[in-house]
Amino acid sequence: MSVRVRLAPSPTGNLHIGTARTAVFNWLFARHHNGTFILRIEDTDTERSKPEYTENILSGLKWLGLDWDEGPYFQSQRLHLYRQAIQTLLDKGYAYRCYCTPEELEALREEQKARNEAPRYDNRHRNLTPEQIAEFEAQGRKPVIRFKIDDDREIVWHDLIRGTVVWKGSDLGGDMVIARMPESPDEAFGLPLYNLAVVVDDIDMGITHVIRGEDHIANTAKQILLYEALGAKIPEFAHTPLILNKDGRKLSKRDGVTSIDDFRKMGFVAPALANYMTLLGWTPPDGQEIFDLHTAAKQFSLSRVNKAGAKFDWDKLDWINSQYLHKMSPEELLPLITPYWQEAGYQFDLATDRDWLLSIIALITPSLTRLTDAVGLSKLFFTPVTLSGEAKEFVAQTEGVKETLNHVLANLDGELTAEKANEIIKQATKELKLKKGTVMRSIRVALTGELHGPDLLQTWLLLHQKGLDKPRLETVYQSLSNNH
Ligand code: GLU
Repeated sequence: MSVRVRLAPSPTGNLHIGTARTAVFNWLFARHHNGTFILRIEDTDTERSKPEYTENILSGLKWLGLDWDEGPYFQSQRLHLYRQAIQTLLDKGYAYRCYCTPEELEALREEQKARNEAPRYDNRHRNLTPEQIAEFEAQGRKPVIRFKIDDDREIVWHDLIRGTVVWKGSDLGGDMVIARMPESPDEAFGLPLYNLAVVVDDIDMGITHVIRGEDHIANTAKQILLYEALGAKIPEFAHTPLILNKDGRKLSKRDGVTSIDDFRKMGFVAPALANYMTLLGWTPPDGQEIFDLHTAAKQFSLSRVNKAGAKFDWDKLDWINSQYLHKMSPEELLPLITPYWQEAGYQFDLATDRDWLLSIIALITPSLTRLTDAVGLSKLFFTPVTLSGEAKEFVAQTEGVKETLNHVLANLDGELTAEKANEIIKQATKELKLKKGTVMRSIRVALTGELHGPDLLQTWLLLHQKGLDKPRLETVYQSLSNNH
């Protein structure tokens, strides 16, 4: 039997980190078994589903490298299949029409609340007589379709992550609605609901393993009953642990991230994020923490997925991201960094400045944790500098800054090479009887406004290429001359 798994997102929001992690596990499982990964968009909730969310989900999965083999299928185009199944369930007596009004159901809930009971439907319309039905119809009531759930049923399955799971039928809220009220008189029933549509699709698509978040466990119990009623083989289930924030609560909007887009905008690269998401619940047998998805797929098994919630660890994600960035070439990084530079308003010409930009990237790459760091790290090449507090203090308290700058300016004509820059520093040290560190720091402060930063010679050469070094050295020199 070949493995067939699916990701079934509802397009009611952008691709969420939880859904993306579910996608990663499904993808790894499919690839490990040479199986098929299917994408199904569950868009039957017409009010909340939006095409732009579908777009976002598809592009997010592609960005992460999670290619699918079939689909996307859209549930909104498959309503006839769900209708057929509902009719079958009605014909076989597994489902029935319930004519309760919203007011009656609300009153029931209030009574249960008053008795301190959990809200549940009391199955009151399960055995209506033909006369009662005729009367409700005559009153113009519109029915929903309910699927019978027996209270004394026990539902047991062997979850591939959680082990044996047991649910009581009485904990499932009573007979469940599988289709809404019809919207027009010529409809036998209205829109099919989630649990029914999922089961019909998973049967129709030959899904062998349902891998999804643990928030679906109660749905699984209900769905197993539907498989039985429809006479279909029940797939294997694997419920993945929730992603938790540092306080141990489900990661949510309040933690500042919701969608995969947010992570992209924050400067994480796709392979690093995919790598990190794989580690959110799964432990590779070889203990390696940096791997690509194809390597992980070779080793992947659900038995190494944790039951306990997976804590989202920003430091770890940052570390993984930095590992990926440090291995990338300036050519690879340039198109990824460019949008952040542009957003920061930096002016450059991608065609004529290409080599200069690549050199800047080579210079700052070892300090990158996120792509966004490139903005701050390269700021000195794109915007005028002002001296930091520390730099001002250094200038004010250090003997020889003015003289150093004077010396450099006097020798700064023509082309600047690393050798020449070194020679200037050496000469200044010797002639002015200063420490090399003082000379270098004086130059750095004038060129960059900071006491610390990337390699001084490289920085200087890159500034020189744009004619930016001389005016900066002059400005600081002038200010010192005016003060003395
Ligand atoms: N549409 C459901 C969701 O987005 C799918 C759940 C499932 O995988 O069955 O949560």
